[in-house]
Amino acid sequence: MFPDLPTRIKRCARDTGFDLCGIAPVRDFGELRVFPPWIAHGKHGEMKYMQARDETGELKRASLARVAPWARSVVVCAINYNTAHPYSTQAQTQETSRGWISRYAWSREDYHDAVMRRLQKIEDELRRLLDATGNRPLATGNCLQLRSYVDTGPLIERVYAKYAGIGWIGKNTCIINQQLGSWLFLGVILTSLELTAGLPAPDRCGTCTRCITACPTRAIVAPGKLDARLCISYLTIEKRGEIPNELRSGMGRHVFGCDICQDVCPWNRKAPATSAAEFEPREVLVNPALDWLAEMRQEEFRVVFRGSPVQRAKLSGLRRNAVIAMGNSGDKKFVPTLKKLCEDSDPVVAEHARWALARLSQES
Ligand code: SF4
Ligand code: SF4
Repeated sequence: MFPDLPTRIKRCARDTGFDLCGIAPVRDFGELRVFPPWIAHGKHGEMKYMQARDETGELKRASLARVAPWARSVVVCAINYNTAHPYSTQAQTQETSRGWISRYAWSREDYHDAVMRRLQKIEDELRRLLDATGNRPLATGNCLQLRSYVDTGPLIERVYAKYAGIGWIGKNTCIINQQLGSWLFLGVILTSLELTAGLPAPDRCGTCTRCITACPTRAIVAPGKLDARLCISYLTIEKRGEIPNELRSGMGRHVFGCDICQDVCPWNRKAPATSAAEFEPREVLVNPALDWLAEMRQEEFRVVFRGSPVQRAKLSGLRRNAVIAMGNSGDKKFVPTLKKLCEDSDPVVAEHARWALARLSQES
């Protein structure tokens, strides 16, 4: 037996470069019960992957016990991706001709790969440990099962992160750790091992409502409740085609994602910088020039954003977002570029350029 297996897993997580590691049991936690009505009300927008169902028609993400009946515990790991660069709420006010890419997307390596590589080292170590001592019976059915996920698993990671003691779920819906703040990538390993779980972290939001007040599109409709269809992250990354007119001005100069509800969080005021070299930013992605993005062509997009989460928005989406940001910039120097873009071969870019031009001309 390995009574100290959780300790060994946590030590291994630390050795592979994770800042935090905890263990959650597999349960139908209360936080998961709000997920089906959220989907039923269409608050996930066009994110169809969220409504994936099992063969009985139940939403996969609502119950891990149904989609992975062999799983007994979830190892949740977190790594800090913060860097010493200013927050969008500071940087954006200075240079009107520049946009904002969410800080999680600045890094040289896609975080999915960086986190998965570390999870697999933990998996290897677990197998080695259990093999070395013939302790496979520790796992249910005498068969050790391990499955690692970074964002793509049939579970809502932050709920398990909470019950693993990584942090609490803030009113902005992010996992917040008392020491590290909320700039955290999460990775999980589902396991058939019955491991001693941690305790959930206490909620430390208190009476604060800064994130709710600061959200420019009022996407946090109640504490901890997000209407993704209003969220700039969703609009700039997941939404294809036209952005609803009434939401465009609230998007400001965000061209990929939005950090505002984390920037304003007091728990991020002294968030330390990461020690993981992979998350050092590519300077060109910090506060990028809007006209550069709006006029980008496929070949350059492919080269600049190779291995970057920004690829998810696709070139058309990124250019559309940059054009909206130019309209919101108040910077008249964009008028000639926008006039040219009104004739762009991409009809989505052209339509948004007409909107941006009209918005700029309304400004005195
Ligand atoms: S990411 Fe931006 S738009 Fe979305 S909830 Fe946070 S502040 Fe609002
Ligand atoms: S800004 Fe305030 S309410 Fe929002 S997540 Fe941070 S502590 Fe909680």
